[in-house]
Amino acid sequence: MSFSGKVAIVTGASSGIGAATAVKLAEAGANVVLVARNAEKLKNVSEKCNSFGDKHHVVKADVSVDADARRIIDETIKKFFKIDVLVNNAGIMRLAPVKGDEALAVYDEIMKINLRAVINLTRLASAHLIASRGSIVNISSVAGTKVINGMSAYCASKAALNHFSRGAALELAEHGVRVNVISPGPVATDIIENAGLKTEDINLEGVSIPLSRISSPEEVADLVMFLASDKAVGITGSNYVLDNGMALS
Ligand code: NAD
Repeated sequence: MSFSGKVAIVTGASSGIGAATAVKLAEAGANVVLVARNAEKLKNVSEKCNSFGDKHHVVKADVSVDADARRIIDETIKKFFKIDVLVNNAGIMRLAPVKGDEALAVYDEIMKINLRAVINLTRLASAHLIASRGSIVNISSVAGTKVINGMSAYCASKAALNHFSRGAALELAEHGVRVNVISPGPVATDIIENAGLKTEDINLEGVSIPLSRISSPEEVADLVMFLASDKAVGITGSNYVLDNGMALS
């Protein structure tokens, strides 16, 4: 699958799914804009992209800060003159029982990054995506359809992301812009550690994984590539579940 000549923005590119997606897009010939807050981790991913040619650009930015979001788009246009693909991957997971004092603060923090930032970047990129008849891939979660005990704010953010994506897909379809969602189940990344948690902190009672495996970030990246490519020309407003069967449990 070639992305030669295409320009792709990947948020949360410093680790996990975003890093794998950025490297695969670079390998496929895209000009990739790597966005994340951690410059040191971004450097590692940038070096991997370099092995496929020096065609990427690093933006150290917090997607939830409006001025940073605008800078992501402005720097992309200044460097590469267009946007073909926007991968809204940056996200955080938090535990926050609804009975707890922190429930509201955690809800605000999660929504700002997992939902509001996606809406803002979609808004800012839309004119450029319309010009290129490009596409958006939003990384949601199986938690957007299946509730996980103690994680209602995270689940709500992903459910809202799914619905926002369908709305954006409908609105942008007349311009030839496609918007799709990927809902992974457990993926081997640092998301739990980055939330300051351990795997055992998450209440997985009643949850099973029929295929008895967890996914690699590269599996998710492969699906991003497919949905962002011309092979998916007829696919918009879809939610691709990649969860080893978890939603069946
Ligand atoms: P990760 O913690 O390894 O990566 C998250 C990335 O997002 C990091 O690069 C981090 O720096 C970045 N990020 C977070 N907040 C940001 C902000 N405000 N501004 C800019 N960058 C920010 O986790 P991951 O598993 O690769 O997560 C990627 C996406 O996949 C998330 O949206 C997550 O909800 C989703 N997801 C992950 C899993 C899983 O099991 N790992 C399952 C379902 C969905």
